[in-house]
Amino acid sequence: MIPFLDLKNINQQYRNELIMACTRVIDSGWYIGGKELETFEQNFARYCGTQFAIGVANGLDALILTLRAWKELGKLQDGDEIIVPANTYIASILAITANNLTPILVEPDLTTYNIDPIKIQQAITPKTRVILPVHLYGQLADMPKIMEIAKQHNLLVLEDSAQSHGAQLQGKKAGNWGDASGFSFYPGKNLGALGDAGAVTTNDAELANMLKALRNYGSHEKYKNLIPGVNSRLDEIQAAMLDIKLKYLDQEITHRRQIANLYLSKIRNSYIKLPLDKINASEYKQHVWHLFVVRTDQREALQKYLADHGIQTLIHYPIPPHKQQAYKEMNSMSLPISEQIHNEVLSLPIGSHLNFEDVNLIIQVCNEFKN
Ligand SMILES: *Cc1c(COP(=O)(O)O)cnc(C)c1O
Repeated sequence: MIPFLDLKNINQQYRNELIMACTRVIDSGWYIGGKELETFEQNFARYCGTQFAIGVANGLDALILTLRAWKELGKLQDGDEIIVPANTYIASILAITANNLTPILVEPDLTTYNIDPIKIQQAITPKTRVILPVHLYGQLADMPKIMEIAKQHNLLVLEDSAQSHGAQLQGKKAGNWGDASGFSFYPGKNLGALGDAGAVTTNDAELANMLKALRNYGSHEKYKNLIPGVNSRLDEIQAAMLDIKLKYLDQEITHRRQIANLYLSKIRNSYIKLPLDKINASEYKQHVWHLFVVRTDQREALQKYLADHGIQTLIHYPIPPHKQQAYKEMNSMSLPISEQIHNEVLSLPIGSHLNFEDVNLIIQVCNEFKN
């Protein structure tokens, strides 16, 4: 079986360095809020091109706490509207509702799977305060247009970069376009910890400072609490693991791009629609291919056929957020493009656990699919 993902295999490549770093932290006797976190925050900020990176417990908290920080700073209040793509992973929307803010679901472009800037414009009301674009599957949303719209309407921009560490457009990386950005280092992400972790990147010193308090009980100084904060910290062991894996992130991305380029140039089957970049083909170079997502109106048959030929695939995602039981009040909304995407998408295996023999087999099997 060619597995969709094999974290054991991926982390095996860095095993010796990970063990050495882990041993260093164990022997240091210092496990929360120390040198390892500081080093990783600096290196990750430098990688993204931002002034600040603030480590938190996970990607959902990165988004929740950024919106929360803007509330504390007087930039947002309960009931304000936040524009978000309708086809995102539910975490982007949970971050909005967790803060008593109102998600305004906007349809994506069918070919890039990313939020459609024209529809953002149509969704803006006097209550809109934030655009929350998601760089889905590893490709940046149309940030030049989104930043222009935000500027025109005086809106904040919070990027959800959980799937797009290192993705670029016009030489600027994910996490460095908006006013702030949330990252996840969930083990299966392109930059994955060996447990839960996340970060916010920003060039805003005031926001960075507020986030550092919020993640630590609302406190900068022990036993002095400025605001009612939470406990959402990135611990020393995970920071040390991430700092090692960050060194190899570009190499991992290169491997993903090689696989994606093979899929794009060699999969030819009228039942399988390949992911497209609307802007131009050279933009493929900027995509980090967290997921390689095709569309097909024969999904059930194709998924079963691939499994029968030893190829594991997954669906990202089978149910759109507005059809989830968690959001009953949205269940009657009609979002036909998102619904079509959720009915048709299928993710092929991609990542450094695959060799080129695996990839060629996947291509051949895909090309022989008929129904
Ligand atoms: C993974 C993910 C998150 C949440 O990250 P966690 O670390 O699992 O909390 C948020 N948004 C998107 C788009 C994601 O893919």
